[in-house]
Amino acid sequence: MNRTILHVDMNSYFASVEQQANPLLRGKAIAVSGPGALRLPGSTPGNPSPRSVVAAASIEAKARGVKTAMPYFMAKQICPELIFVVCHPERYHDVTQRFLRIFERYSPLMEIFSMDEAFLDITDTQQYFGGAVAVAQRIKADLRCEVGNWVRCSIGIASGKILAKLASELKKPDGLVVLQDKDVAQTLAKVPLTDLCGIAHHTAAHMRAVGITTFAELAAYPTGALKKEFGVRGVELQAIARGQDYAPVVPYNKVPPRKSIGHAYTLPFNSTDPKKVLGVLMRLCEQVARRARDDGMVGEQVSAGVRFGNMRFAYNHERLDSFTNNARVLYRACEKLILPFIGKTPVRLLTVTLHRLAFGKQVQLPLWVGERSQRQLDTAVDEVNDRYGEFIVRRASLHHGLEPRAKDGRRSPEVPTSRDEGWHKQSPGYAMNKRIALK
Ligand SMILES: [Mg+2]
Repeated sequence: MNRTILHVDMNSYFASVEQQANPLLRGKAIAVSGPGALRLPGSTPGNPSPRSVVAAASIEAKARGVKTAMPYFMAKQICPELIFVVCHPERYHDVTQRFLRIFERYSPLMEIFSMDEAFLDITDTQQYFGGAVAVAQRIKADLRCEVGNWVRCSIGIASGKILAKLASELKKPDGLVVLQDKDVAQTLAKVPLTDLCGIAHHTAAHMRAVGITTFAELAAYPTGALKKEFGVRGVELQAIARGQDYAPVVPYNKVPPRKSIGHAYTLPFNSTDPKKVLGVLMRLCEQVARRARDDGMVGEQVSAGVRFGNMRFAYNHERLDSFTNNARVLYRACEKLILPFIGKTPVRLLTVTLHRLAFGKQVQLPLWVGERSQRQLDTAVDEVNDRYGEFIVRRASLHHGLEPRAKDGRRSPEVPTSRDEGWHKQSPGYAMNKRIALK
């Protein structure tokens, strides 16, 4: 039977989420960069270093010619009114959770392709919503209501994943393109080989070398010779060029479970202060525990690692008394594990990982009243944060911990970090609330 696959791709994702969170940025050309941009040599307050690059550009910035991975100074030359924004990874992660939950309403067969893309096999479910186009329109409407007006998506509909992905690329932003089987050849004739997901520039160059420059040539190439040159992948690509796109949508709950769940964090400045280091450790334990709970997993072993200012690494692990996904239990164990490392050599980075995972349902429920009430508290806090934004409710200890700057008010010079240093204090603040979004 012919399948119906939807590919949903969020438009200018990180930049749109920033615009959703901050109304002052809406409709403006903005460039999102890593937090390191404000700390690298040559940066001044509010102005990124000349070494920084654009990690994501808003739709308005793209219209002016700003591209992803373009050096910031170059982007600023093309578009002088460009506004620089520091990224907020937690925000993007949280919004991703929200839109995935929306997609799931329309089919249990959902494959998460990346942080801002997913496939939905709606072959059997579209009939309940009035057809494939109606599903796509409902997804767009749900996004507007529940995430906000500024986070938009392009949707492609086709009989296979790769073709649906190609269709979603055809119209941006806010596109909705149906690619019928009968139109596949005609559409492929109009686009370069590299527009197909799976044909990178080096593959296209290899194909050119053997005389394939168009999809028609790829479709007509002798299959045996193609297999010799490009392996099985070549044969798969040829099938797609012939409109035969059969790869299944692999639902995320069918993906083999992970063996471990871990997080790492580079401190805004190297520190020997146990209070500061342990503040970060608590936050990492919260993140690991939350991810475990989201996945319905519990773990029986925990490890904690420290990278020092001199790049040396120390690591310890411990088997826990019982399976857990509670942050406090993780923290108690991790604190013991890393305390011997803190105090002498400045700490640069911390890691926390939960190992020996099992599905929560397969593990015996906690017997102790205290443990049970901890679990209820976790569930309640998760529910509030699911609704209003990650870390809206958090432990009081997370209000303290790291100050954003060193004692003398200046940033320490040797602290390139991978995340926003005010991370434990931020809240997303975008319009989840329908009343706000639908003014
Ligand atoms: Mg995208």
